[in-house]
Amino acid sequence: MKILVVNCGSSSLKYQLFDMTNEEVLAKGLVERIGLPGSVLTHRPGSEKYVFETEIPDHEKAIKMVLDALIDPEHGVLKSMDEITAIGHRVVHGGEDFSGSVKISDSVMKALEDNVELAPLHNPPNIMGIEACTKIMPDVPQVGVFDTAFHQTMPPEAYLYGIPYEYYEKYKIRRYGFHGTSHKFVSERAAELIGRPIDELKIITCHLGNGASIAAVNKGKCVDTSMGFTPLAGLMMGTRSGNLDPAIIFYLMNKENWDVERANAFLNKECGVLGVSGVSSDFRDIESAAEKDNDRAQLALDRFAYVVKLYIGAYAAALNGVDAVVFTAGLGENSISMREKICSDLDYLGIKIDTDKNNTRGKEVDVSADGAKTRVLVIPTNEELMIARDTYEIVKSGKDSL
Ligand code: AMP
Repeated sequence: MKILVVNCGSSSLKYQLFDMTNEEVLAKGLVERIGLPGSVLTHRPGSEKYVFETEIPDHEKAIKMVLDALIDPEHGVLKSMDEITAIGHRVVHGGEDFSGSVKISDSVMKALEDNVELAPLHNPPNIMGIEACTKIMPDVPQVGVFDTAFHQTMPPEAYLYGIPYEYYEKYKIRRYGFHGTSHKFVSERAAELIGRPIDELKIITCHLGNGASIAAVNKGKCVDTSMGFTPLAGLMMGTRSGNLDPAIIFYLMNKENWDVERANAFLNKECGVLGVSGVSSDFRDIESAAEKDNDRAQLALDRFAYVVKLYIGAYAAALNGVDAVVFTAGLGENSISMREKICSDLDYLGIKIDTDKNNTRGKEVDVSADGAKTRVLVIPTNEELMIARDTYEIVKSGKDSL
């Protein structure tokens, strides 16, 4: 069975085609600058790379180009489109409607539309991607896999804010959490690596990339996570502020004469490690600046590690203990020094890493010191594979949801 995984942004479309008999990636690629001058498809069937520059006015044309590339006699990997059994879509916000992946139907589309207000930048392109596939391949089943779904098991005391309850009822203002597909993937993989059933384990998953979040996973279910109503909350990130005193924003709007749009751009694009370091939002740049004695770069790294450490402590409290801490995403998988910094002085939780084992990038590895009570694992995330697995599961079982 072949599954196409699609991840649509407002002007981009990423895809991967999986053969689910062995979970092999047959081809992957990226359409960029959809609806803009200079649109381009980069198609990778294996290690080769093919670049097609042409006008791509909308997502429908983008999907058509992807399918043409997949069935092309020269650089394609399929004989015909009929070989695609199902399509799995990444959808950012499922609100409270979806606690798992679902087969796309008219009622699901209606619920996605209803959730646009919660994710005005992300859900519309996700919807466009689904509509484009429906037009071109009306008979191929499609599945929506939500970034928020894994976190729907959070209890109300974790997801409610300290604001009047009527605003939760009226506007659904609550914590949702994001990166759920990644937290689910790495927590399940952690249980496999530890060799114990997930329903016996307390796991803290740290998805540390340009966007970053942490989740507390008890017996395979999320009980808390650091992102909130939007992906702006929680950890300080590449350019996002993470948690701050909300009064700061009113103070700054007043002092700098900002409107709401300006304040929103500030919090999302100018803060985080970029704002603190003044160097870059990319941790590689910040790490190399810190090595050259840039104090603010060092401060950004110190603060980032400190906040992650606080969350690990908080989530060990939420879980009443911790069996494993998992590091994933760009920084979590690759930064030896950041993992070391975060894990230092966490011996009260039984966390101790082995510096030799930790001397690794982008590989699945247990970096805990011999005899440490709590395992520390590096697990490269694979959200596309998780989407393909859920899509496969739904199509194979004939169920409408997982
Ligand atoms: P992601 O959003 O998961 O793609 O992660 C992107 C972040 O990971 C960027 O801030 C990168 O600087 C960081 N990153 C990737 N590779 C490394 C590395 N070798 N060392 C430190 N940070 C890295």
